[in-house]
This record gives sequence, C-alpha cells and structure tokens, in this order.
Amino acid sequence: MRTDEYFDPEIEMMKPGDLQLLQQAKLAAQLDYLFARSAFYREKFAAAGIRREDFCNLKDLARFPFTAKEELRESQQAFPPLGSYMAADMKDVIRLHASTGTTGRPSFVGLTRKDAEIWTKVTARSFYTQGIRPSDIVIHATSLTMFAGGLPSKDAIELIGATFVPVGTGASEKVVLYAMSLHATAIHCTPSYAIYLADYVRREAKMDPRELGIKKFVCGAEPGAGIPAVRAKITEEWGARVTEGLGNADMVPIIFAECPDQSGMHYNGQEYVYNEIIDPESGEVLPIETGVSGELVYTSLERECSPLLRFRTRDRVTILGTSCKCGRTSYKLRCVGRTDDMLIVLGVNVFPSAVRDVVSSFYPRMTGEVQILLDQPGPGVKPPLRVMAEVGTEAQDQATLQKKVEEKIKSVLTVPAAVQLVPAGTLPRFEMKGQLIRKLFEER
Ligand SMILES: [Zn+2]
Repeated sequence: MRTDEYFDPEIEMMKPGDLQLLQQAKLAAQLDYLFARSAFYREKFAAAGIRREDFCNLKDLARFPFTAKEELRESQQAFPPLGSYMAADMKDVIRLHASTGTTGRPSFVGLTRKDAEIWTKVTARSFYTQGIRPSDIVIHATSLTMFAGGLPSKDAIELIGATFVPVGTGASEKVVLYAMSLHATAIHCTPSYAIYLADYVRREAKMDPRELGIKKFVCGAEPGAGIPAVRAKITEEWGARVTEGLGNADMVPIIFAECPDQSGMHYNGQEYVYNEIIDPESGEVLPIETGVSGELVYTSLERECSPLLRFRTRDRVTILGTSCKCGRTSYKLRCVGRTDDMLIVLGVNVFPSAVRDVVSSFYPRMTGEVQILLDQPGPGVKPPLRVMAEVGTEAQDQATLQKKVEEKIKSVLTVPAAVQLVPAGTLPRFEMKGQLIRKLFEER
C-alpha cells in the first residue's frame, strides 16, 4: 500500500458523533478479545468486579480500572518475555521494540503483522499531517534501533513515498554531510537535537544552519517543539517550519501530530486508539474542551499482541482547540511535560520544560539552555528553585539580566527561583532527549 496523499478524509474529517460510534463498536470488540485472550485483564477485571456486560457505551469505560506502566513491567518479569497481557501467539509476533525507561531494565512491546501495519498507518498519517510529502528527503536523526520511533518511522515515511535517510544518533558530521550532498528537505529529530545541531553546524562546519536548506523539522520524543520560545528558536536558527508529534512506545509511535497551522497536535489515531484525559490525582475523566489540562490515557481499539486498556501515559497535556483551519475534526493538544518530571515548589506544580520556556523567551540574550539543580530527590523542592542558565551572545549587563530572568520565572510560574548565569556552551548538550534536571544528590 502506498499513496501520495496520505490523508483519510473519511476518518480525519469525521463528525465527532460518528467517530464515537465507530470507537464504541471497536472498543466492544477489543473488550471481547481481552476477556477471551488476556489473562492479565481477566484478573484485573475480576479484582475490580467488572464484567463484560458492564460495557455498553463509551461512557462505561470510566468504570474499568487503569493500567500503569509498572504493572506491565512486573507482568513481563513474572511472565517473560511479553507479560500475561500478551494476547497473541508468539508465532504471530513479527517484531519487538524496547523502551528502557528510568529503571534501566528494558520493557518490550511486541507486534503482530496487523499491529505493525496499524503502527505504520497511524505514524504515516502523523508525518503527513506534519507536512511530509513524497518529494521530501528526510534525514532520520534520532535512534533507529529498538526505539519505537525508529524503524516504525522508516516504515511510515516510506509508506508516504518520501525518501528515508537512516542516519541515526551520534553522527552530526554525517547529518551535515548527507543533508548537503542529498539536498535533504526535512529532518526527524528531538527538539533538543534541532538546537544542538544548529550550534554544531555553526561551530564545526563554520556555516549558517540555514545554508543546509532544511525546510521541515519534524520533532518528537520529548516536549519542546511546541513551546513557543523553543519553536521560535529552531525556526529562527534554521529558517524552517517546526511541527511536533507525540506518541507512546506501548501504544503507537506517533498518535498526535501538528498540521502546518502549528496550533497544537491533532489526535490522529482515531480508529485505533481511544483517548481519555483524566485528572491525574482523582482519576476522574475530564471533558474534551479547549483549555482542559490533565493526563493522557490510551485504550487500544484493535490491538492483537498487547492490547492495553486505560493505559496511563504520565503525559500532562492541555487541549488547545477542537477545530482547525486544515479541516481535520480531531481536537488538538500540547504536551507540557511528564508527571514523573514534575516538581513541586511551595505547593505549585512546575515542569522543567516550562522553566526552559521562560528562559528561552530571553533569546538571544539567553541561549535557552537550562539545568535545574536538585539537592534532594523530588518532586518537592525547597525554595528557591535553583536554575543554571546560559547567557547568549547579546547579553550585556548580566546582573540585570539575572534579575529579569528570576522575576519572569516568578511572574509566569509563580515560584521563586535563584538563577545562576553561565557562559554560552557550558551546559551539556543532549543529542537525544534533553535532560533538564541535574540531581546533585546522586553525584556526592
Ligand atoms: Zn490542523
């Protein structure tokens, strides 16, 4: 299957009411499958006193228990290799991916042929939404092996008919060389890398990044590309359009993607992944309305190997809109961070990416690179919040600048901060995901 127009108006422009009926029917079938084939869910449902008959319409899903990542890890340890939530036969599994997470122990996700086709289809829809077309030459400058955003991205970009260039990570010299010799038009990478690479091009290739001619930055794997100041910086450095995507290694690599309107990421896996947004503390389901913030929860609608019900992503998102100039009828959101990364200062929730956002707004007086220093394990932080931030090229009076940054953090995030200015280029650059927190207590 290959198409030059990887846009499906029947699904992507479907009326919300019709979509709900489709999702309801598919979820009913997925539940039949879970009750029949997933020992993990049979046990969970029994423990929660839930029967198959308890689901009649989408609203009933709220009665079903959540699934946490830790449960999947534990299940894989107890029932290797893929846990008791594996609902297909191993002979039907054609590929495995892994995510390492914070514990270092890999967690695997298996795909049947049909699962893999769905991953490719939804991921292609997302890249297409982000503006990738058959004429594009796309440098893949993120991880390629094991990572769910690796080979599935290859499959999706090839499905669209664009040219996939598998450079991978740790190879900035090659990214520059290939971008120049191939006249690459697009790059798929993390927002941290987009910023890192601009520095690299200027420093090592002695070129203006714009001379490379890359016009599309398709970013993902971490929040950032949607943060106005970070986006402005990448756009300014490269003279390119930046769009972002969001997905999940256990569900589909890219489920949300931003269209060229750049006004938030569209929900793109409509007929394969059902979404809820919940209050992370109470677990209550929140309405899909502009301005609503909460944790994203995924339910698979047609998964064979490892179907998941009400899977808590720990991604904190805000809904930005429910209609769009592009004609897609799905709602749009932005991811503000992961609940795991969240800090609490004087009772206020602070995401490290939000601190970077505030500091980046001083660009070019500040480079936008920051590190938050923690003396003890979070999420509670004794005030003030300690922030190291790099001064940019045009900074003059540093004492005034430091004060202004502190004041802006205080006014935007409502927490006191102690900002320490350091010269440009001194904070570590990360080629993969940016690490905005430095744990001093682990270094002692
Ligand atoms: Zn749109």
